[in-house]
Amino acid sequence: MTPSSMLVTEVFSAIQGEAALVGERQVFLRLTGCNIRCRYCDQPEALEKRGGPCRLEQTPGRRDWAQATSPLLLAEVVEAVDRLWRALPHHSVSVTGGEPLLQAGRLARLLPLLAARGHRVMLETNATLPGRLAQVLPWVDHVSADIKLDSVDGQGTQLDTQRRFLELAGGHHLFVKVVIGPDTSRPQLEAAVAMVHRVAPTSEIFLQPVTPFAAVLTAPSPELVLELQDLALRLHPRVRVVPQTHRLIDQL
Ligand code: SF4
Repeated sequence: MTPSSMLVTEVFSAIQGEAALVGERQVFLRLTGCNIRCRYCDQPEALEKRGGPCRLEQTPGRRDWAQATSPLLLAEVVEAVDRLWRALPHHSVSVTGGEPLLQAGRLARLLPLLAARGHRVMLETNATLPGRLAQVLPWVDHVSADIKLDSVDGQGTQLDTQRRFLELAGGHHLFVKVVIGPDTSRPQLEAAVAMVHRVAPTSEIFLQPVTPFAAVLTAPSPELVLELQDLALRLHPRVRVVPQTHRLIDQL
């Protein structure tokens, strides 16, 4: 792979289903490769950092895929995004994955090209790679940062690493997403929310009840969701519960 290419899984236009920008129309640029393996991950095809077939929607929302082979040249990525945006005004480009910051150096070359075309960018990240964030931040308008709970995703992510990430991301319309499940540890959630409150006191936290998928068989009960929001609200004033709404209305 050359410095002017990147690993892409798919590019398409869809309704953002999660967190602060729920309901907005976005171009999704899904990159390939992730550094962790959450139990509930609904993007198994985007996890391994390797090339191969990828798909590019031709008309916004039509799912008229053109097949291509990843890695794609940065110019090809720009054209795939721009084609959709030219056909329909979008709120922003959701740069997602996988974990986009695995390709931070390449993103640092791509994002200025998107910005030059007037495309705002939302970075959707697992917030575990603070050392790579600075490379892309100048071109990012919104940061959607996941804070991981080991009791839910089983990945043992260090809270201190995530704290350093949020410290760097502040000021870029930062919001935080925490996936909650039936086995959510109350102490882990309290520690996470308290950390966010210290580091990013004005940022909203979105509790996202897990959608059953793969190894995850059940969502948290209605009573537990209320209890966890109560717990979080005692530590941070801005906590909303938003499920994966795109799954409810059968969208990508
Ligand atoms: S961080 Fe996101 S893409 Fe990576 S395994 Fe977890 S849910 Fe999947």
